[in-house]
Amino acid sequence: MNNDLPDWLNPAPWLSRTFSAADVQHAIGTEAPDEETLAALLSPAAEEFLESMAARAQALTQRHFGRIIQLYVPLYLSSWCSGGCAYCGFAADRHTDRHALDFAGVEKELSAIKTMGFEEILLLTGERSSEADLDYLRECIRLAAQKFHNVAIEVFPMATEEYRSLAEAGCTGVTLYQETFHPETYDVMHRWGPKKDFFNRLDAPARALAGGMRFAGLGALLGLSDPRFDMLALYRHARHLQKSFWQSGLTISFPRIRNEAGGFIAPHPVDEKLLAQIILAFRICLPNVPLTLSTRESAAFRDGIAGIGISKMSIASKTTVGGYGDTGSEDLSRRSGAKAEAQFDVSDDRGLDEFCARLHSKDLEPVFKNWDGIYRLTA
Ligand code: SF4
Repeated sequence: MNNDLPDWLNPAPWLSRTFSAADVQHAIGTEAPDEETLAALLSPAAEEFLESMAARAQALTQRHFGRIIQLYVPLYLSSWCSGGCAYCGFAADRHTDRHALDFAGVEKELSAIKTMGFEEILLLTGERSSEADLDYLRECIRLAAQKFHNVAIEVFPMATEEYRSLAEAGCTGVTLYQETFHPETYDVMHRWGPKKDFFNRLDAPARALAGGMRFAGLGALLGLSDPRFDMLALYRHARHLQKSFWQSGLTISFPRIRNEAGGFIAPHPVDEKLLAQIILAFRICLPNVPLTLSTRESAAFRDGIAGIGISKMSIASKTTVGGYGDTGSEDLSRRSGAKAEAQFDVSDDRGLDEFCARLHSKDLEPVFKNWDGIYRLTA
């Protein structure tokens, strides 16, 4: 494959730059953050300034989002996947039973989730398959849009016209992580399948926004490659999209490799201290972009960072197919068998009520419905 990143995306020059304590202090206080600000805040020199970064990030979070934490929940529609991602429990060479919800099952799961109180749902599948293709996904979105204010997807990359057909069915957003922006690492981690095409994936958020999606969710899977390289490239990707699609919205997530069925070990592990540094740096540099954290992270870490850098969180998540309805994924699946396996382990397994009570105790307000104006400035 072509291992050359385009100039607009390649952050390599920043990695050879040494930042001083004074550089970091200037970056924390600036009212005009840019790429140099982010590079300083991600540098080793910033490790000594996490408290100052947290204070600045909290002030910016409250300025742009108030004291709210927007909540959403994922629903895995299918675990069928022909992909060969080395880090994923749904990869084709994992010996796991596969499941996909039929439409009756989807409706049951949606009703159960709606009863819990959620207004935003994220629908997930693996790679495009005969069990979970575009038509299947469009119908699932149509069903979800009857119940939920926001229906986002985290599925396979598509063509612009395919995204447009999903937007017309009621889909509001697309989450698509690049996993790593380092082309050589990307090539090793994605052993086969359509996902091996780095640039097809890279361009997909732009195609989604061109197809009428209101927001695109970006991220990289922390642990695959040098996290500072990946985070600087992620910032460049986000800024590139903001310039081209200024009327649309972005969200940024910080997924970190967790244990999964295949026992994958992260080659560049990211500990909680570095994860916090990354989140705080992004809040300072992209102050009005919603930053998301999933239940991959521990309850203690999530409680600590909520409202300081993070403004959007999932909770009560199941990472198996279905699992919210009363019959569970085996009975709802097209193919029954042993208990469905998860794509990754959930660390924060608290229920919705317990989590909301914890947010209230921190003087934060859980919010289930977000408003159209957040994502689109013009009609
Ligand atoms: S990350 Fe996605 S495409 Fe890759 S194996 Fe897992 S489900 Fe399939």
